[in-house]
Amino acid sequence: MFLESIKVLNVDMCVKQPGTFAAFTRASADVREVMPYLNSMFKSASYNHDGNSITFRNDKVEFSIIEDRINVARFANRTELHERLDWIKDLINDTYDSIRELTPRYDARKPVPVLSIYALLPRTNCRRCGEKSCMAFASLLHKLEAEIENCLPLTEGTYEENRLKLEKAFD
Ligand code: SF4
Repeated sequence: MFLESIKVLNVDMCVKQPGTFAAFTRASADVREVMPYLNSMFKSASYNHDGNSITFRNDKVEFSIIEDRINVARFANRTELHERLDWIKDLINDTYDSIRELTPRYDARKPVPVLSIYALLPRTNCRRCGEKSCMAFASLLHKLEAEIENCLPLTEGTYEENRLKLEKAFD
């Protein structure tokens, strides 16, 4: 197995999202080899090829990886932390095992401008995404701190074309 284990070094309060936690861990292997493939997989990925680092989100949890350090942020408790670490270990191992069939991506995605995002949202300020306004949600999407699917009206048909345009903008 490529990655045997991930050891938790420290758990603290998450400064990015009050009420959640962040963990600093060390993996049993340097995982830089799989990073271009993770970059290809996750539209929310922020990848630095020269710096051997990548950050991406799965649900609301954020993973920041630098060589053999895997930091996890925005999780609720230790049970969730261990579930998330099992998930990232399996993902890294499955990716490593499938490298020959996958396409790597080495470039860093450019941020999508807030106003371009806002123009494609329904702009009804319905708050179903949990934010106070469409502009607030656009700002979160711009910072890769939300998922397009969190805007429920976008998934309900009327705004299908806008959703596809947004997905293309983040591709
Ligand atoms: S759910 Fe969509 S339409 Fe409603 S406030 Fe949020 S971004 Fe705007």
